[in-house]
Amino acid sequence: MHLFEELQELRRTIHSDPEVAHTEERTAARIVEFIERARPDRVVTGIGGHGVVAEFVGEAAGPTLLFRAELDALPIKERGDIPHKSKTDGVAHVCGHDGHMTTLAGLARRVGERRPKRGRVVCLFQPAEEVGEGAALVVADPKFEPFRFDYGFALHNLPGYPFGEVVVKDGPFAAASKGLIVELTGETSHASEPEKGVSPALAMAELVAAIAKSPSEPGYRDFALATVIHARLGEVAFGTSPGEATVMATLRAYLDEDVATLNDRAIEAATRLAERDGLRTATRHTEEFPATVNAPEAADLVRRAARETNRGIVEVETPFRWSEDFGVFGAIGATAFFGVGSGERQPALHNGTFDYPDDLLPVGVELFVNIIKDTLGEA
Ligand SMILES: [Zn+2]
Ligand SMILES: [Zn+2]
Repeated sequence: MHLFEELQELRRTIHSDPEVAHTEERTAARIVEFIERARPDRVVTGIGGHGVVAEFVGEAAGPTLLFRAELDALPIKERGDIPHKSKTDGVAHVCGHDGHMTTLAGLARRVGERRPKRGRVVCLFQPAEEVGEGAALVVADPKFEPFRFDYGFALHNLPGYPFGEVVVKDGPFAAASKGLIVELTGETSHASEPEKGVSPALAMAELVAAIAKSPSEPGYRDFALATVIHARLGEVAFGTSPGEATVMATLRAYLDEDVATLNDRAIEAATRLAERDGLRTATRHTEEFPATVNAPEAADLVRRAARETNRGIVEVETPFRWSEDFGVFGAIGATAFFGVGSGERQPALHNGTFDYPDDLLPVGVELFVNIIKDTLGEA
């Protein structure tokens, strides 16, 4: 069978059997089965959860290149009517990670056929990207230690951009974001005697306003946004004055330091309001993504590979507002995250009808192959 047909079959099989973050067991097993046909020098499984690494060593010493794809699907109901539709209700590959991991599996097969002249190629299949935890878990796992790299690359398909065009940028590419959860605790009382309890109602309302207004205050270096996504006060009980409240917000900015400022201001407001009203506060964070920042020398390798693959290049001036946990790898080596247009009529990412275009698979493989040729040479 031709490699493209094998990739198409793998992509559709994975699409039909999606698994959400931290549960990508069958997906990882399928990837291992497929890449072992490429005879890697080493395959390590169970990295940072269900992560998989395949390593290909070149003939001579040289730099290590890491290529990363994601393994997880989303808790979203698939609405399209395609033959390889999700078999699991409420879970679907509507971000295209099935396509990204198949692209990387295709790269592994190509590198297996023709090793690099020098250096090493590391293919990382990372778990739990959508919840912003997988990259950090991989990096923290001692099993990842031998795969520290000099250059790191990852692509994401981008609906709305012409098919196959390469979207690139130096510096910040995707926003940093984090989920903030603030709990305010007082004391319930009878609704007829609110003065005998400690209600968080007023503090909660003021906190929602303070968080929402925070980005318009001075002191940010770039774009900053705070979206209050959930708020809850007491119980639905008309005889009770509430004793607790929760406010949740997504804090987002192009720079990590601006997310920190948004966070500090929200916590300051919560502390001040709690002190005023005699409440206790507790804060937690979830889904923390650092900014994805491209090293210019790595982004240049992407541009060069795009030209060699005869792909148009779209230079974006403004970073994307969404977040991506690939930013974590920027602390290890020179990294570049880039987009590949999946077509102007392709449904948006996370839309229930999204299905990765199979024709994009060879485009991604060729881009990655050219990055390797340019840096490590080909055997
Ligand atoms: Zn996504
Ligand atoms: Zn994604």
